[in-house]
Amino acid sequence: LSAQPDTLTRTTCPYCGTGCGVIVSTRQGRIVDVQGDPRHPANAGRLCTKGSTLHLTAADHVTRQARLLTPMARAQRGGVPQPIGWNAALEQAADRFAQVIREHGPQAVGFYGSGQLLTEDYYVLNKLVKGLIGTNNLDTNSRLCMSSAVAGYKATLGADAPPACYDDVQHAQTLFIVGANTAWAHPILLRRIEDARKANPALKLIVADPRRTETAEMADLFLPIQPGTDVALFHGMLNVLLEEGLVDKAFIDAHTDGFDALCEAAQACSPAAAAALCGIPLDDLRQAARWFGGHTPTLSLYCQGLNQSARGTDKNAALINLHLATGQIGKPGAGPFSLTGQPNAMGGREVGGMANLLSAHRDLANASHREEVAALWGVDAVPEQPGLTAVAMFEAAARGEIKALWIACTNPAQSMPDQATVRRALERVDFVVVQEAFATTATCAHADLLLPATTWGEKDGTVTNSERRISRVRPAVAPAGEARHDWFIFTDFGRRLEARLPERTARYRPGTRTLFPYTTPESVWMEHRASTRGRDLDITGLSYHLLETRGPQQWPMPDGATQGTARLYADGAFPTANGRARFAPVAYAPVAEPCDADYPFSLNTGRLRDQWHGMSRTGTLGRLFGHVSEPAVELHPDDMRRLGLAEGDLVQVRSRRGALVLPAQASDAMAPSQAYIAMHWGPEYLGGQTETGDPVAGVNSLTQPAGCPTSRQPELKHAAVHLAPV
Ligand code: SF4
Repeated sequence: LSAQPDTLTRTTCPYCGTGCGVIVSTRQGRIVDVQGDPRHPANAGRLCTKGSTLHLTAADHVTRQARLLTPMARAQRGGVPQPIGWNAALEQAADRFAQVIREHGPQAVGFYGSGQLLTEDYYVLNKLVKGLIGTNNLDTNSRLCMSSAVAGYKATLGADAPPACYDDVQHAQTLFIVGANTAWAHPILLRRIEDARKANPALKLIVADPRRTETAEMADLFLPIQPGTDVALFHGMLNVLLEEGLVDKAFIDAHTDGFDALCEAAQACSPAAAAALCGIPLDDLRQAARWFGGHTPTLSLYCQGLNQSARGTDKNAALINLHLATGQIGKPGAGPFSLTGQPNAMGGREVGGMANLLSAHRDLANASHREEVAALWGVDAVPEQPGLTAVAMFEAAARGEIKALWIACTNPAQSMPDQATVRRALERVDFVVVQEAFATTATCAHADLLLPATTWGEKDGTVTNSERRISRVRPAVAPAGEARHDWFIFTDFGRRLEARLPERTARYRPGTRTLFPYTTPESVWMEHRASTRGRDLDITGLSYHLLETRGPQQWPMPDGATQGTARLYADGAFPTANGRARFAPVAYAPVAEPCDADYPFSLNTGRLRDQWHGMSRTGTLGRLFGHVSEPAVELHPDDMRRLGLAEGDLVQVRSRRGALVLPAQASDAMAPSQAYIAMHWGPEYLGGQTETGDPVAGVNSLTQPAGCPTSRQPELKHAAVHLAPV
């Protein structure tokens, strides 16, 4: 082989919402190297451990063996799947879905997607479910990731739009990181923070987190708050800002509504009361508030610690309240900036690919928005009834209300909370389609039909990262085996379903022959682009060609604009009915499942630095286990002693929903009475059965389905558990 690559392809890392650009080298049709793209604004050539090993996962023979390469069908559940071919597979899928829709109505089918899908994939899926089938039963694993951030932005600022950008890190005087371990979850963003601190020694870094993470270790001020007490912390800080005259009265008067109601709601959380609830020193809470309001500009960075909560929307809104109260928004170095967990959770939100959303940030609950989308799609109407959100969809399936379920690019048999219910659901649904790149995920074992999808290195389309920046995803090699692009699978299935549902196609507007006229990802994207005209995320000035010639761009970029928009709300005008932001008068409330004498520990879950989700891509690469090699439950050293546990001793972790046996590991990062288990290890690594006979499905055998009443995001950051040495 020549040492020179045959081709270099610019594309985007698929692992996290930082959205780094990568350049892929191929030789003789194989990916052989990956480098950071120096021209990509998100990373300027840098890559973290996961990104820099992308080529190894693409080339690794074990990973390749794990690929699903041809459509497969099972004659019966538990049987060995047999190759079936694309035509037969999609005919069977269309027959079964059409039959369920005819016999039980459109509400009897469900679709569960992923923040890994590209924007084009998402767009076609959304139109298939809401435009053709006539249900809103489409939700995705973004519900487990970002839905509280969406609801928090909309409740306060009027639109689901992170107002800040990565460059703001360089301009900030205070960085407030809450519920985010940036060092592990967004490592390249952390490099920016390190650079900013070197360039500006006066920069203050505050970190609030129940665990003393690697990010917390870097902080000038660490606030080790008790799980779920974020709203109390923010209200306590607001009261300090009020006491010390650090609110921006002029900004509040000119640009916001509802400040008096917020102050009244926050009264219950005096600084002293808030500090006591959070379990932190009062002086530290006061110091955090002084830096937040007095050492400005202030940029907040936050992630799942706020989102994955039974009060997720309130937590997001309470933090945004602080930015509005101090005028820390819409200017360089300032703003509430939610970090996206998945590579394209933003793109999914943009096309409205969730149970309560419609295209281009339109709301299902808004009759005008429904009419606009129906007109765009050429159908008589889109359904009004809200769809089932992620947890509710699997609960409905477990009750027998969902007869056909299509799962694309995600692994709910590991990643959803309350796995016992998820297992019951997958067993009860009459017909389960799993559209996947890898044959080894836990969910594949439940499929009646397996459809092979392309993955990173093969896919073609766009993604949007945390700072609203749209990047191209380009194919470097041909699809593996018979794998097809997700948008094309939905398009092909959609056309076949149209032929079987004349009662649905009869409702198309004159001139609409098919909802799926697409031949390329660009043809899908152009329709998505048209849907954004006049909306807050207007990208009518953008094109694939412009992304090619000028590189990734941040929305909005309306017709006539020469570049994207780095920062929102610089003029103090917000996308609400009266142009003013709204303070959210939220009240502190504790976690959904408080600890008690039977379940005295608070279980937290999250990421490791070098693993990704259910390990389908990273779990076969030995060098990615150098950081952490096996699952464990991390505990405070005092709790280890109290339980009589030595390092590596097995301990049973039991919640009201299941149990898991893992080695115990002492960690100074942990506070007393708290436990932490990484989310990555699933049944294929842990094995065994629970007391109820269910297979052990990883940490989500323990987690709870209770979630935020507004965002419907489950509280994956806390479950009450019992620990017992084995
Ligand atoms: Fe990929 Fe995220 Fe690492 Fe960037 S920070 S290389 S996007 S995993």
